[in-house]
Amino acid sequence: MPIIETVRAFHDDLTRFRRDIHAHPELGFEERRTSDLVAGKLAELGIEVHRGLGKTGVVGRLRVGNSPRAIGLRADIDCLPIQESNIFAHRSTHDGRMHACGHDGHTTMLLGAARYLAQTRNFDGTVHFIFQPAEEGRGGAEAMIRDGLFDEFPCDVIFGMHNRPGLAVGKFQIRDGAMMAGGAFFDIAITGKGAHGARPEVGIDPVLVASHITTALQSIVARNTRPVDTVVVSVTQIHAGDAYNVIPERAVLRGTVRCFSRNSMTLVEDRMRRIAEGVAAGLGATASLDFRYLFPPLVNHADETRFIADCAADVVGEDNVNRRGPLTMASEDFSYMLERVPGAYIQIGNGDGEGASEVHNPGYDFNDAAMPFGAALFARLVERRLARMRPDEAGAVPA
Ligand SMILES: [Zn+2]
Ligand SMILES: [Zn+2]
Repeated sequence: MPIIETVRAFHDDLTRFRRDIHAHPELGFEERRTSDLVAGKLAELGIEVHRGLGKTGVVGRLRVGNSPRAIGLRADIDCLPIQESNIFAHRSTHDGRMHACGHDGHTTMLLGAARYLAQTRNFDGTVHFIFQPAEEGRGGAEAMIRDGLFDEFPCDVIFGMHNRPGLAVGKFQIRDGAMMAGGAFFDIAITGKGAHGARPEVGIDPVLVASHITTALQSIVARNTRPVDTVVVSVTQIHAGDAYNVIPERAVLRGTVRCFSRNSMTLVEDRMRRIAEGVAAGLGATASLDFRYLFPPLVNHADETRFIADCAADVVGEDNVNRRGPLTMASEDFSYMLERVPGAYIQIGNGDGEGASEVHNPGYDFNDAAMPFGAALFARLVERRLARMRPDEAGAVPA
């Protein structure tokens, strides 16, 4: 029987579980109830449970047979600080907290795969079910890695999945190489010399300096990056002064950078520092840059991209798998895991009907109809990657 048929048998249970998590969302590193629920479910299935990695992270280990091969499957468990506007029964019961990115669905799909695999055990090797906290800009992936994720639970390959509103349920999309942008935040602190607004000759105006720096920063994308590389530099805040007749002492610029390679990010940081310091110096002020690299770009590995797309085609048919999906400027911290272990990240359709809400919107909800497809894909990855070998195949590496 195809995996998806077996998984459909517990679709109602998965839906109940997903809606329970949706109603009780928890922010990054505060996912105590969620991680208790996940750990409880894994234990119920007879899967070895490890807790405390990245504070609220959970890892389940399921070993079948004696092959040394190991695969990692990752879901994120945190919510966002958003006030939900939905009025359905499973809406958030926590004020100002909401599963607006569908991590409730990702968690449930991975538990669905765990249930299937624990029951059928049709593989030879080890599966690590990785439930990661704090994906939404709080560094959960890095925290788990720092706590020894890949030392304690070594994986030959790792796979993750994110829902995609606007893509029909039952469809997947992925692309080889860079798929999601790397992101950084920056602050530029400018110090001039305060003076009376009517006596500029005795001061150094940081507002003028901030304006020149803001303009000059736009030369980075226009003149320093290769036209075929995608880079965004946005100054999103300018703060200075509180009076009509006072030239302030200080000004601050803040903003964000997005791009698809470490090289581009380094180039932007370097140019930004030289422009800020140089322009300020030219105008008699000083400026210092604080550049914080948040996420590396998410880069899919070629072999694993082909492999997960093939597995997705096993589940939904080749016609429903787009292997040349679009680049997105959003970021995702699974990129840290992909920097350490070969793997791939795929997008699963969350529905393209009328009223389908984007992620991070107060009206968003994960689409329960997508769950069997995601759970089946996670399970299929394991059955193919850790396929049982007949004695005559010993030593052969399965595709
Ligand atoms: Zn998100
Ligand atoms: Zn997300």
